Amino acid sequence: MGVVVQKYGGSSVSDAAAVKRVAQRIVRTVQAGNQVCVVVSAMGDTTDELLDLAEQITPTPPGRELDMLLTAGERISMAVLAMAIANLGHEARSFTGSQAGVITDSSHGRARIIDVTPGRIRTAMDEGAIAIVAGFQGVSQDTKDITTLGRGGSDTTAVALAAALDADVCEIYTDVDGVFTADPRIVHSARRLGAVTYEEMLELAASGAKILHLRCVEYARRYGIPVHVRSSFSDRPGTTVAGSIDDLPEADMEQAIIAGVAHDRSEAKITVVGVPDVPGKAAAIFNEVARAGVNIDMIVQNVSQAQTGLTDVSFTLPKTDGAMAMNVLQVAQSTIGFARLQYDDQIGKVSLVGAGMRSHPGVSATFFGALAEAGVNIDVISTSEIRISVVTHADKVDTAVRAVHTAFELDADQVEAVVYGGTGR
Ligand code: ADP
Ligand code: ASP
Ligand code: MG
Repeated sequence: MGVVVQKYGGSSVSDAAAVKRVAQRIVRTVQAGNQVCVVVSAMGDTTDELLDLAEQITPTPPGRELDMLLTAGERISMAVLAMAIANLGHEARSFTGSQAGVITDSSHGRARIIDVTPGRIRTAMDEGAIAIVAGFQGVSQDTKDITTLGRGGSDTTAVALAAALDADVCEIYTDVDGVFTADPRIVHSARRLGAVTYEEMLELAASGAKILHLRCVEYARRYGIPVHVRSSFSDRPGTTVAGSIDDLPEADMEQAIIAGVAHDRSEAKITVVGVPDVPGKAAAIFNEVARAGVNIDMIVQNVSQAQTGLTDVSFTLPKTDGAMAMNVLQVAQSTIGFARLQYDDQIGKVSLVGAGMRSHPGVSATFFGALAEAGVNIDVISTSEIRISVVTHADKVDTAVRAVHTAFELDADQVEAVVYGGTGR
C-alpha cells in the first residue's frame, strides 16, 4: 500500500460544492489502494478576510493572537472536508497542526518547522481512516502556543508530513495545471513545465511565484521528496518538482535554457540617503534592520560623491516589514549619521530563472534588451547562478513579464494555461 500526501489549496475548497468535489478525489485515491493523508488550506480567501478583520480591530495585533485567529480558517476546512468524506461512506479524522505533531519554533507568523511527530496521523491511517490535517500551522516547542508558518505555508505542512510519513509522493492540488513558464494570470500563453529541478523551483518561489511556498521547496529538496503540482479541477498531468541541476545531462537538447519568469509585488524599497562613505556604515544599517527581525532581499550602494564623501544605500524588503524597518532606522539616524530615509512601496521585481543560464552566453543581453524595448526602466539588478532579477515600477511588472517571456520564446502555440478558480488575492 502506498502512502500519499495530498494538499488542497484555498481555491480548491472555496465553497461546499468544491469541498464535496475534493472529497470525491480523495476517496478515489483511497479506492486505488493508497493510505491517504490530506493537508487542507482555509476556504477561498478566508485567511485574507481574517486578516482584514484583525486590521479593523488594531493595526498591530499581538502575534500570538493573530496566529490563533488565522489558524481558525484551516480548522473550518478540515472539519467540513472530513464531513464530506464521511458522507461518501469513508472514515476521515481531522487534526489541527498541533495534533498532527507539527512542532515549530516560536516566531509567530513565520514559524519554522523543527520536528514532525505524526503518531496520531499514522494511527488514524493504520486504522483505515483518512487523516485530514489543517495546513500552515503548528505548535511552538518552547511556549506551546499555536503558530503559523507564513502565507502559503500549507504547502510546507504537506511536504513536512510527506517526509515524516515516508510518503511515496506529495501532491499539491491547486487552481492551475502545474508550474508554468510564468503566472498564467498574467501570461495567458504560458507553457506548463513537465518537470523542474528543486534549484529552479527554489529560485522561482523565492522570486514570487506563489504556486509553491519557498520553505516547501527547501524541505522537499532536503528530504528528496518529489512534489507533484496539479489542478484539483482537471485530470491533466501537472508538474513534477524533483532532481538537481547538477544531475541534468550536459548536452541535453530537451533541457530548456529557461524555466520561467517570476514576478513579485510584495516588496518595498528603502533608500538611506547621505550615508558617510566610511567602513562600518553598511554594517550599522543592516544590524539595525536584522535586530528588528527583518529579512532583506536586494541591496545596492551608489558610487559615493567625491565632494561630499556621502553615498546612498538602497535595499528591498517585504512590504509587511516596511514600517518596522523605517522605525528602527529612524531611531538610529543620529548614530549612523545619514541624512534621511526614502520609502517606496510601488515597486515590483521581475526574475528570469533557468539552469541553462550557466552555460548559455547572451541570456542577460536578451533579458535587458527585451526590457529596454518594452520601455521598462530598471532600478535595481541582482543575479544568482541561475537567476537574473530586476526591480522596476509596480505599473511596469506585467509588461516586463510578458516582454521577457516572449523574448525567450516561452509562449505556447496554443493557449494551455487555464486558471480554474481563485481570485488571485
Ligand atoms: P492555492 O490556493 O492552491 O495554494 P495559490 O494561489 O497559493 O494557490 O497558488 C496558485 C497560483 O499561483 C495560481 O493561481 C497562479 O496565479 C500563481 N502562479 C504564480 N506563478 C505561477 C507559475 N509559474 N505557474 C503556475 N502558477 C503560478
Ligand atoms: N491559508 C493560508 C494562506 O492563505 C495558508 C495557505 O493557504 O497555504 O496563506
Ligand atoms: Mg498556495
